[in-house]
Order: sequence, then structure tokens, then C-alpha cells
Amino acid sequence: MIVTNVVIVGSGPAGIGVASLLNQTDIDYIVLEKKEIGYSFLKWPEYMEMITPSFPSNAFGQMDLNSICELTSPAFFLSKEHLTGKEYSEYLAEVVKQYKINVQTNTEVTKVDKQANGWMLETNQGQYFAKYLIWATGEFQNPQINNITGAEYCVHSALIKYPDELKGDDFVVIGGYESGVQIAYELVENNKKVTLINPDVIDHLDTSDPSQVLSPYTYAKYDEIIDSPLYTEVLGTVVGVTDQKSNYQLQLKDGKVIKTEENPICATGFSLVKKPIEELITYREDGNPLLNEETDELYGQKNIYLAGPSVRHDAHIFCFIYKFRLRFGVIVEDILKKEECNEKDVSLLIEKWKRNGVYLADLSCCGEECVC
Ligand SMILES: Cc1cc2nc3c(=O)[nH]c(=O)nc-3n(C[C@H](O)[C@H](O)[C@H](O)COP(=O)(O)OP(=O)(O)OC[C@H]3O[C@@H](n4cnc5c(N)ncnc54)[C@H](O)[C@@H]3O)c2cc1C
Repeated sequence: MIVTNVVIVGSGPAGIGVASLLNQTDIDYIVLEKKEIGYSFLKWPEYMEMITPSFPSNAFGQMDLNSICELTSPAFFLSKEHLTGKEYSEYLAEVVKQYKINVQTNTEVTKVDKQANGWMLETNQGQYFAKYLIWATGEFQNPQINNITGAEYCVHSALIKYPDELKGDDFVVIGGYESGVQIAYELVENNKKVTLINPDVIDHLDTSDPSQVLSPYTYAKYDEIIDSPLYTEVLGTVVGVTDQKSNYQLQLKDGKVIKTEENPICATGFSLVKKPIEELITYREDGNPLLNEETDELYGQKNIYLAGPSVRHDAHIFCFIYKFRLRFGVIVEDILKKEECNEKDVSLLIEKWKRNGVYLADLSCCGEECVC
């Protein structure tokens, strides 16, 4: 059995980002990754790119929006604004190399047992014991098709690597947020007809928060297809799909029926990969884990933290890298305090992390809207 102070599960931006802060302390840690560094990004569809642009603005106090570690910038590393999944995984691997971050690949955590003084983990490489556990398994590997009967006839958009290779000319896409609009765009670009079904008018919300409305990057694509004769938008909520042998029928909540010969494409989102820790989670009404706002520990638990896009506090949604990285420092601060590290050293680290955009404890500013 391997014993360490902290185990981080997952080597995506959240896991590597938190590890890069622990690396600046005397606390020993290990990152356990079930496959390769940045594995979710390696599984992205080929056409997908980061929607937040990268820019090497670090030196003037504003870290690249997609950076997870100070003095690094995906834009600088790859001379590019919108990285593909493969490129972003290369950036993560480079951060691991440069900072000698302790990652063990091909190690999948299958079971987590709470013990009196820490966490016992079962993996395919044996047992690990840690006083602190940081769960950073992301969402991409858990695509969701919820509240639709006959979901087995649908295909999730995350699983379509090459939309141009899809057989058929007439597709239905369920969901009109980032993934739905992007796959609709790819299909129209390839001369396929698309009917996109979404409960609300796309982009009708009056907010500047990209967690709730289309990012400018995707909006530009939407703008290109909205007047295309190949593109139709339907307002509605799909509740069921049936296989009629010659076609699939989609039932909408308002009674409407839409027919399609191809399997409906669900761009219906993702949720936290959580199986081994499922029983430790208390859920919010929106289905995300409820967290202790001071530390990002799972509510009602001690020394088990959540990092990554499922972090929520009240109405604040931390689903982008530039948002969830702000909480890396909050987690590590809690561990340093519990380990009774030198207070002055901890304050110096926190000042630095604040400047670099990897520490935000006071969330009162997060709801501010742009005026223009
Ligand atoms: C197409 C697309 C475009 C996006 N564009 C942007 C963007 O432009 N900007 C932005 O900020 N966000 C973007 N996002 C969201 C962003 O990619 C995610 O929020 C981010 O990857 C989450 O990072 P993570 O480290 O939490 O999870 P992941 O990147 O999913 O990493 C989790 C890691 O944990 C590993 N793992 C899972 N279970 C286990 C286990 N039991 N044991 C060991 N290891 C395990 C996985 O293999 C994986 O490597 C995009 C997402 C998608 C799908």
C-alpha cells in the first residue's frame, strides 16, 4: 500500500492545476490518472476546439484564460488561440514535465473507503492511503441523456468524433447550448440538413455569463447557420424517442412529433464522474454536489474536496477553466492550515496565488454583469 498526504484523482486541468500548487509546498501528493495525462481531451471529437481563447497575457497580471498553472500559457506553448483537445492535452503534459508534477498514469480509482484518519483507495495498481482526497475526475467521460425515454436510440454528441463521416443527410440535434450549436454547425457545413430542438430561444438570456449563454466563439458559428436553408430550429422539450423501424419519432412535451431517419443526436450535457464517491455526496437541487463554501469539501465530509467544472456555490457556476482554477488555492490553503504550516509562508503563497488568478475565497464579485 502506498501512503501519502494527498491523493488527487484525475489529471485534467483541475487535477494538474491543484497539484501545481501543492508542488510549491512541502506536502507530499500523488495524482492518479486512469489512462494518460489529459485523457478527456484526447477523447474530444476531432472538430472541437477550446471556446475560450488563449492569449499569453500572464506577464501583465492576467493569466491566459486556459492556463492552469502560473508562468504557463497554452497560447504561448502552441502559438494558437483555440486549441484542439489533443493540443490542450499536450499543454497539460508539458506542465507536468516542466514542474515535475507527480502523476501516476494507468491507475484507475475504483473504490473509496472513508477511514478514521483518511481515505483508502482501491485501484487497478493496488491500494493507496491518503489523509486528504481531491476529486478531479471531470464530466466529459460521463455524457448525460436525462429525462428522455428511448435514450438508447440516441447518440450523444461527445461520441461523434467525425461529423463529416456520418451517414445520412437529415439530422435532429437535441440541445442548443455550446455542443448542440457546434455539431449543428459542423453538419450544415457538410451540407446536411439539421433540425435543432431546444426548450428556449437560443441565447435569449440577458446575462454576460458564458456558463449560461453561448460563448462569442460559438455565437459566431450560430450566426453563420441561422439563415441557412439547411437549418431549422424548433422550440420544445423532447420527452421520448421511439424506433418506428423506418424512422425514429421524437415526442415533444407539447405533443408535437418530429421524425428522423437517423439516430437523434443528444447534445444534452455531462455530469461529474463520481461512482467511487457517490455515497459521500449530498446533492444540490440542480444535481451538482453541495460543497462547503469555505473549502470546497463535500458537504458534511472532511478532507475530501471537489475540483473542476462541477463546482457550484449558490448561483455561481464554475464550469470553465478560468473559473474553477480560482478555487485551487482555496483547497490547498485548507490543507496547509490543517497541517499547521507556517502562517507567514501560507500568506505569502496565497498573495501570489491571488495575483495569478488561482485563488478566490470571497465569491461576492462573481455575479457582476458587463454593462456593455
Ligand atoms: C468540446 C468541449 C469544449 C470545451 N471548451 C472549453 C473551453 O474553451 N474553455 C473551458 O474553460 N472549458 C472548456 N470545456 C470544459 C473543460 O474541458 C472541462 O471543464 C475541463 O476539461 C474539466 O477539467 P477536469 O480536470 O475537471 O476534467 P477532465 O479534463 O475530464 O479530467 C478528468 C481526468 O480524470 C481521469 N479520471 C476519471 N475517473 C478516474 C478514476 N476513477 N481514476 C483515475 N482517473 C480518473 C480522466 O481520465 C481524466 O483524465 C470544454 C468541454 C468540451 C467537452
